[in-house]
Amino acid sequence: MFEVVIGLEVHVQLNTKTKLFCSCPTSFNHKQNTNTCPTCLALPGALPVLNKEVLHKSIMLGKAIEATVNRVSYFDRKSYFYPDSPSAYQITQLYTPIVEHGKLQIDFEDGTNKTIRINRAHIEADAGKNIHDGEISKVDLNRAGTPLLEIVSEPDMRSAEEAILYLKKLHAIIRYLDIGDANMQEGSFRVDVNVSIRPKGDEKLYTRVEIKNINSFKFIQKAIEIEVARQSEAWEDGLYEDEIVQETRLFDQVKQETRSMRGKEEAADYRYFPEPDLLKAVVTDEMMEVYSKIPELPDEKRDRFVKEYGMNEYNAAVITSSVEMAQFFETMMQEGISAKNATTWLTVELQGRLKGEVNITNSPVDAKKLGHLVKRIEDNTISGKAAKEVLDRLMEENLEVDGVIDALGLKQVTDTGAIEAICDTIIAANTDKVEQYKSGKDKLFGFFVGQVMKESKGSANPQVVNEILKSKLG
Ligand code: ADP
Ligand code: MG
Ligand code: ZN
Repeated sequence: MFEVVIGLEVHVQLNTKTKLFCSCPTSFNHKQNTNTCPTCLALPGALPVLNKEVLHKSIMLGKAIEATVNRVSYFDRKSYFYPDSPSAYQITQLYTPIVEHGKLQIDFEDGTNKTIRINRAHIEADAGKNIHDGEISKVDLNRAGTPLLEIVSEPDMRSAEEAILYLKKLHAIIRYLDIGDANMQEGSFRVDVNVSIRPKGDEKLYTRVEIKNINSFKFIQKAIEIEVARQSEAWEDGLYEDEIVQETRLFDQVKQETRSMRGKEEAADYRYFPEPDLLKAVVTDEMMEVYSKIPELPDEKRDRFVKEYGMNEYNAAVITSSVEMAQFFETMMQEGISAKNATTWLTVELQGRLKGEVNITNSPVDAKKLGHLVKRIEDNTISGKAAKEVLDRLMEENLEVDGVIDALGLKQVTDTGAIEAICDTIIAANTDKVEQYKSGKDKLFGFFVGQVMKESKGSANPQVVNEILKSKLG
């Protein structure tokens, strides 16, 4: 049998205000080629200057993955020509990266976990974009020189599932630290997947294939499964040596296959050498101290939710998997509601209505409002069923919870006097059923509850109805 071996390279676009080596803005969606200057256009004589904010964000990541931050790191030149790279080289960190030897824990559904080692995280400059427009191709250099942090794992993952868990955890960490948008569709979290197989028990690494630019977790999972099947089949057919070569492949989601894109370059092809235009990057004691301050991370938050709110591990993990969701939840909790209700109303009722289309941050119903709605269930103002109606209304229009409850006439009657009067009416109108109930037909209790609820047009508090009927019917 085979064992799957996976190593991941993730390019994270850092959300700095300006580019890596010049003061051009990094902002998205500007008119083409306007965020450029002699440095990022690579005009002769223009010199790069390192952006300190990039060091800051890199160190935060280093701290979050418990890595070594190198006090002195260096930049190197990687030569290759591409139309969207006017300098014909990329500035990167090959020999001494800013961050080395980190780790990250992934958690399985059965409660076990595994540590994935991270080899390094290095700083490099992004290229521009080639835009293919019918017969012609255009170049937009707005992105040229945007800072990237490339985070390279050791080949420690043994299944597509482990790879996805690693990526989701890393993604969450980037969002928690707020060092990047990590938007896969927009390309600010780009994943290269390296895959090989080997006979179980073998320690040696076999030929790896690199699959590039897959822009969703679902497709990454699929691409790995398909590539593993291709390699295993080649092995079983005795064609492994011929068919599996070190190369870069592309995942075609329509044909559901991986396809050769180009042969894998060796380091020598890039003619790496120390970047002569830049000084070494030095991290002082003071920078180390200030830049290492990081907010609470997903695992810590999860453990705190379990302790503080008495949540189960699973719900706590679901809520803390995204920083937006965790913040939404904590704001809801400020209304003094139960964690269980907050979880259900957030993950089932609200997210069900958002249908995955709208990000939770853009939800028409904000956290305070949803918390307030749950509060109104817990203090018996409305039933859970009525609350769903209120939420439907709030999704349509920006209104206040209490106002909608009044307008829709959904306030529960908890006034025992009023409910008692209804109970008496129902009992008086159904003397035959009362007899049957008293002579042992217990099932009829539900009938009385139903009648009272109907008479009250659903506004009676069911708990109060139950109590009063019980005492009246004996
Ligand atoms: P490159 O930049 O040329 O792709 P790196 O050494 O920087 O090479 O990154 C290689 C990535 O591939 C790392 O994530 C590493 O863990 C992974 N890797 C290396 N060898 C294998 C292998 N045999 N099978 C799967 N992954 C591998
Ligand atoms: Mg690679
Ligand atoms: Zn510039």
